Amino acid sequence: MKPFPPYRIQVVKEIPITTRQQREEALARAAYNPFNLPASMVTIDLLTDSGTGAVSAAQEAAAAQADRSYAGSDSYYRFREAVDDLTSYPYSFPVHQGRAAERVLFSSVLKPGQISLSNTHFDTTRANVELLGAEARDLPCAEFGDLDSREPFKGDIDLDALERTLRGPDGERVGQVLVTITNNGGGGQPVSMANLRAVRSLCDRYGVPFFLDAARFAENSWLVVQREPGYGHLTPREVARQAFALADGCVASLKKDGIAPMGALIGVRDPELAKRCEVNLIATEGFRTYGGMAAHDLERVAQGLDEVLDPNYLRSREADAAHFAELVTQAGVDIVQPAGMHALYLNAGRLLPHIPPHGFPGHALASELYLAGGVRAAELGSLYLGEFDSDHNLLTPAPFELVRLAIPRRTYTQAHLEYVADVLADIAKDPSRVASYRIVDAPPLLRHFNLKLKQIPAGS
Ligand SMILES: *Cc1c(COP(=O)(O)O)cnc(C)c1O
Repeated sequence: MKPFPPYRIQVVKEIPITTRQQREEALARAAYNPFNLPASMVTIDLLTDSGTGAVSAAQEAAAAQADRSYAGSDSYYRFREAVDDLTSYPYSFPVHQGRAAERVLFSSVLKPGQISLSNTHFDTTRANVELLGAEARDLPCAEFGDLDSREPFKGDIDLDALERTLRGPDGERVGQVLVTITNNGGGGQPVSMANLRAVRSLCDRYGVPFFLDAARFAENSWLVVQREPGYGHLTPREVARQAFALADGCVASLKKDGIAPMGALIGVRDPELAKRCEVNLIATEGFRTYGGMAAHDLERVAQGLDEVLDPNYLRSREADAAHFAELVTQAGVDIVQPAGMHALYLNAGRLLPHIPPHGFPGHALASELYLAGGVRAAELGSLYLGEFDSDHNLLTPAPFELVRLAIPRRTYTQAHLEYVADVLADIAKDPSRVASYRIVDAPPLLRHFNLKLKQIPAGS
């Protein structure tokens, strides 16, 4: 039996239908940066799965009962109950979103000159490490380097590299190990429980704190149940509990697997660290029982954390991503294998060999998806990860030129995803028509959000 979503749609939102002419004008006005497009000009928005999931009737019912007391609100206790059921961290705090959790936790852990080691730091995560004067160093496993390999846990951290670093001359400077589940910056690939256990024992041996960046903890748990020997008989909730239990704490954006419009979580075990986080939280986010979240979002999160672990929901979400992946690969567009759950990562470098890295193949494909079909996607290639000189010349390209098609939770039907696959199939029929791009303006930090570009038509 094919999996199907364990819900029906009760409230819908109309989506904009536009002409190619209108989209060409809109993208030019946006300086060829999809982040500058008004949503009213986007038909299918796959820019992110963050805060874009559909909320349930139960979440809205809980939100309607929210208690907005400044201190000790009922909504806070419901939030704590949902979080404690999963994490067992004695101290946990709500924060308004994941990057605030990063800032509050990391500034309580890391000192300037220290190193944060990760399978892959997400972009805001890296920025929050670097803003503290610390170094963010990624140690993805070797299998991740082969985009076509179907190894089941390509999100794992490279344990040999981790141990070498901890034992070597830089070992003294390592302030934390942070494992991102699933590895969003690394193709959305899951991390195995075996890998988390090995990280735990290395961190014990070298006396370094181990945290999870757990934005997609439920999807990681589901993929562990499906793929890792010895876990098939467990529920995703049981696996999630084991994963949280292995770490000393976590940051988690709840805009992903909290299925909430806004919210995040910091969890820690160490009472001294909790005190430092709390002072920072109160000074910059809010009192410890709301931490920058509105009471109705505390309620949506508490309910969302329960709904997201429903095996029927996770099975259906995995099947949606797998179906989408199959259509896209059949259309002749390679993706980072194997398909995960929250996004497909298209191999734009391979599809558009006529565009060199300094013409930004990932950005070119993302832009063409918009021009051809009103589909918005995010580049994850040299535009985002390359190194540039002050005149915006590309010095070092990214290792891969990818486009991320994020799949918002419960938001689009299979028919929408099939439409996106059709748009891609049209592009893949004659990729040589796709235009390349040149940077005209770029800020030094978090470049991709504020870039301005110029289009260079194919063949010119
Ligand atoms: C989204 C995300 C963040 C940041 O969370 P926000 O809620 O967007 O601030 C951090 N880490 C990972 C892995 C993410 O996916």
